[in-house]
Amino acid sequence: MPEEVPISGGEVGAYTVPTRSFRVERPESDGTVRWDKTSLVVVQLTAGSQTGLGYAYGSPAALDVIRDVLLPSVLGSDPFDTTRTFWRMAGAVRNLGWPGVCAGAISALDSAVHDLKARLLGVSLTRLLGGARTSVTAYGSGGFTDYTIGELEEQLSGWAAAGLSAVKMKIGTDPDADLARVTAARSAIGDDVGLFVDANGAYERKQAMRFAEQFAELGVTWFEEPVSSDDLAGLRLIRDRAPAGLRVAAGEYGYTPSYFHQMLAAGAVDVIQADATRCGGPTGFLLAAAQATGAQVPASSHTAPALHASLGAALPNVVNAEYFHDHVVIEELFFDGLPELVNGELVPDRGAPGHGLTLKSADAHPYLTAEWRSS
Ligand SMILES: [Mg+2]
Repeated sequence: MPEEVPISGGEVGAYTVPTRSFRVERPESDGTVRWDKTSLVVVQLTAGSQTGLGYAYGSPAALDVIRDVLLPSVLGSDPFDTTRTFWRMAGAVRNLGWPGVCAGAISALDSAVHDLKARLLGVSLTRLLGGARTSVTAYGSGGFTDYTIGELEEQLSGWAAAGLSAVKMKIGTDPDADLARVTAARSAIGDDVGLFVDANGAYERKQAMRFAEQFAELGVTWFEEPVSSDDLAGLRLIRDRAPAGLRVAAGEYGYTPSYFHQMLAAGAVDVIQADATRCGGPTGFLLAAAQATGAQVPASSHTAPALHASLGAALPNVVNAEYFHDHVVIEELFFDGLPELVNGELVPDRGAPGHGLTLKSADAHPYLTAEWRSS
């Protein structure tokens, strides 16, 4: 029997890491946003002799929410009561607003509680959550709109050469340049590698419908956020009108279970994306994936590949995991115990307890902007 001990201690750090591409620090862009750094919070919770780790990409303000609002619901709780703790946290942020910063804070904590539970049981997170298979298919993701054509070709063809079966590029910053960029990407990776595009909501409806036809002719099979994810009717329109073989994907701004219900009920997507560092850790991710199962829509994980390897391998309807450039850089820097990338599959260590990740504190320390630990 595992130890019966409450969660007794918490430690949280906020980190900010400059973006890097092609071995230099430089800003990156997609169709609607430009950024030069990535922030994340890392939480460690202890119960008995074990420590669970969780993290979320998002505002450093999540540290304040964790310390002041959420940890009172978590400290002293039973680490096996993951569902109870999740809903207590959701209740605690009612008046602050669940989506956004609070959702990131809940996500980091929920991941840490799940990791702790699995470690106390001595099983991997993948096996704890259902163990559907031994790996999840990864796709390379980057291709930012401020890359030159040469840089775009180098990054995407590098992933293809490494065995990834599909790659994704950003579009939408300069619509006049998009067809040339997608054409260059297609010739760089060859015809046998899947090509995904992500407009991050940059296009208008009619513009997106025209691009859907043109991208499909270039063998693009995944059109992410062709219009804003706030426009569910627009996503539905493009989904219904797009050529067969071109899937419309969205869902990365899903913070609550109801968000996924609304997107699926609107028939807005062919693939629903969920991000466990936004939608509530493993608890929220399972709730999203279950709703996708009911709607007969496959699911895909958004960013954070080190965490999603464990979740994607656990759930049968997660068709792929985003191997996102920025987060690959950070996760290699911050964590030991990363899932292996083998023949285009992310393979979590089913023999290691929890998700297997541990924080490399000394390596992460230069990026630390704030920290707090319970007494
Ligand atoms: Mg996206």
